[in-house]
Amino acid sequence: MPKYIDIHSHVNFKAFDADRDEVISRALDNDTWVINIGTQYDTSKKAVEMTNDYEGVYATIGLHPIHTDASYHDEAELGEEGKEFVSRGEIFDKDKYKLLTKMGKVVGIGECGLDYYHMNDDTIANQKVAFMGQIELANELGLPLMLHVRNNPDNKINNAYFDVYELIKKYSKIYGTKGVSHFFAGSVEDMQRFIEIGIYISFAGPITYKPKPEICDYESVIRETPIDMILADTDSPYVAPVPHRGLRNEPVYVKDIVAKIAQIKCLNEEEVAKQIVLNAKRLFDI
Ligand SMILES: [Zn+2]
Repeated sequence: MPKYIDIHSHVNFKAFDADRDEVISRALDNDTWVINIGTQYDTSKKAVEMTNDYEGVYATIGLHPIHTDASYHDEAELGEEGKEFVSRGEIFDKDKYKLLTKMGKVVGIGECGLDYYHMNDDTIANQKVAFMGQIELANELGLPLMLHVRNNPDNKINNAYFDVYELIKKYSKIYGTKGVSHFFAGSVEDMQRFIEIGIYISFAGPITYKPKPEICDYESVIRETPIDMILADTDSPYVAPVPHRGLRNEPVYVKDIVAKIAQIKCLNEEEVAKQIVLNAKRLFDI
């Protein structure tokens, strides 16, 4: 059993083209397993391929809500040459993604969900269609969902966490749908609703930053979340935890996030690390 599992990382992205193998080796040498997350077809395929090169490296496959829209492009993710492809926006093709699950160690579906950060009615409708397709695929394969949920701080009316909860709830009763909300930044109430339907809560680098309770009261959420439902993720290459803030993030830094969770919960760090690994192994069946 490893000491840590970074349950949400993108070492499959362009940002790691120059030193991908060193980054993965650094994690594995430090007893840290890695789950790389697909965000559209190409990054999903890359994540799956990587699982065949290492022990302790897994993948999820899916279509990020942002990539159901035509406008979004991130160079750290796709590089310069991705621009033309992404500009079309992708429609979730369940059968095409299903084939990927036979090509390596696929342990979940996503990242999928709802992103209200750049919101207009058209894109939300597209996001919901893609999300429901991925819930169906997860149910068919008996895999957990890797959820991306993001609110717009200027819009207090629409709550993506509540809408995701409502969509999954329908299925979870019939199929026992499970999953994890990565980079959780919701309220205590949002967390409690997720726990109620078997969705784990994963915390990322921002919990180590100077508290801004008006945006997210991480301390209260972490204190209230049951320890057997907590996971930790880096979302590399983004949002590196303190003391690496501002640098490119990588999976080995997940230990700083785990340490912060232990500190907030006033629990022994080793014990918390062990519990989080057990939680990840239970959810992803690894
Ligand atoms: Zn991500």
